[in-house]
Amino acid sequence: MSDFLPTGIQLTYLVAASLFIFGLKKLGSPATARNGNVVASVGMLLAIVATMLDQHVLNYEMILLGLAIGSGIGAIVAYKVQMTEMPQMVGLLNGLGGAASALVAVAEFWRLLDSGAPVPLDVNISMLLDVLIGGVTFTGSFLAFAKLQGLISGSPITFPFQQPFNLLLLGAYLVGSAYLIITPDSLPIFLGVVAVSLVLGVMFVIPIGGGDMPVVISLLNSLSGVAAAAAGFVVMNNMLIIAGALVGASGLILTEIMCKAMNRSLFSVLFSAFGTGATSGGAAGGGATDQTVRSIDPEEGAMMLGYARSVVIVPGYGMAVAQAQHSVRELSDQLEKMGVDVKYAIHPVAGRMPGHMNVLLAEANVAYTQLYDMDDINPQFEQADVALVIGANDVVNPAARSDANSPIYGMPILEVDRAKQTIVIKRGMSTGFAGVDNELFYKDKTTMLFGSAKDMVAKLVSEVKQL
Ligand code: NDP
Repeated sequence: MSDFLPTGIQLTYLVAASLFIFGLKKLGSPATARNGNVVASVGMLLAIVATMLDQHVLNYEMILLGLAIGSGIGAIVAYKVQMTEMPQMVGLLNGLGGAASALVAVAEFWRLLDSGAPVPLDVNISMLLDVLIGGVTFTGSFLAFAKLQGLISGSPITFPFQQPFNLLLLGAYLVGSAYLIITPDSLPIFLGVVAVSLVLGVMFVIPIGGGDMPVVISLLNSLSGVAAAAAGFVVMNNMLIIAGALVGASGLILTEIMCKAMNRSLFSVLFSAFGTGATSGGAAGGGATDQTVRSIDPEEGAMMLGYARSVVIVPGYGMAVAQAQHSVRELSDQLEKMGVDVKYAIHPVAGRMPGHMNVLLAEANVAYTQLYDMDDINPQFEQADVALVIGANDVVNPAARSDANSPIYGMPILEVDRAKQTIVIKRGMSTGFAGVDNELFYKDKTTMLFGSAKDMVAKLVSEVKQL
């Protein structure tokens, strides 16, 4: 058995890695995403079972205890967390992942120190990278969590000579690492390198505005994968290397998608103080605030929707906060019964995380075939009788197309202003995430239905039923 075990484990890892990749592929479409999760979970189960059979695992009691406590906490948190709080939840998980990877390196350092065995150069470099990336991910993610959760101010924190100070820290890390490569058994220097890495994580996140935190969290997610891969090199575990590389790559792709959909470069997210009001509050959509808006009641809204031939529903952050997705589906079902063609327009960064709207609408059992990506739906707005905007703001702001001074200029938007009529459901005239006024609300073809998304959509449903 002992001869067979390592080969058996490696083969199981190979199957698990294939299932991860297959699962990731399936996550690419809403229709197959649930299946993809199951496939990847089976891969993870195989990987865990194979690792547990590894002879290096000495203490099954501790592992089972950790598994029970971790699963219990995870289940409670996953059950309680609101969809709108998902970015900070992911932040917390990334942070723990980074900490776990860094601790693998610390434990390995201790083991090697105790044994007095020579430290191979590749293991030494892997440990140092693991400590840096894992440490930065740990403190950076927890800080991002604290900002998003409102535990500390979400504004960027800057101070004089911040960049030189960061460079100094990086220099200290590099010098410490170089020393450890020559003298691998120096405990004080190793602890110094760990401390510097932890401080670097704080320094990385403090200058970033709370608003950009979801992008940063996605990047930290990627880093947590890279840290896990580095830990894989430290303990020579192929599964950890592959899984870490997959997380690293997918996190980076997600970061790139988010930046592209917001028309921002990663550089500007990381090194400019956006989302603080300092840059975003200034441009008010071409002074639209002097203008008046046309407000309607649910009865008028129901008439417009009920007598339309085609309606495009545009959900946004407000629908998520109000948890209005079930009422929205009820409304679209009712309209379809009356012969209205209903489509949903999904902007890639509507809400507060990529796929936010897809997840909510899937939860309400809206058919995937009714969901249209921005590029597919934009040419169809001109034919739509009514665009019904539910708690979306920035993603439908025409200033992104026309106002070069707007902070969201250049961001691709859903072109609802091209529809024959637009109804916007929101509670008042507050700005969205980017803090800019929206000229859409003042256009002749736009009518505002003021109120919370859930109440207003429920009222529309009952009014539409009476038509
Ligand atoms: P916005 O944040 O632009 O606007 C949401 C609107 O919802 C607000 O204007 C608010 O107005 C309204 N609202 C809030 N609560 C309710 C409620 N209970 N009922 C009805 N309306 C409500 O949302 P969008 O989805 O249009 O845009 C998302 C923004 O987030 C973009 O700027 C995007 O770049 C950014 N972002 C998105 C990320 C992602 O991955 N999805 C990541 C990072 C940033 P009022 O208070 O008047 O009701």
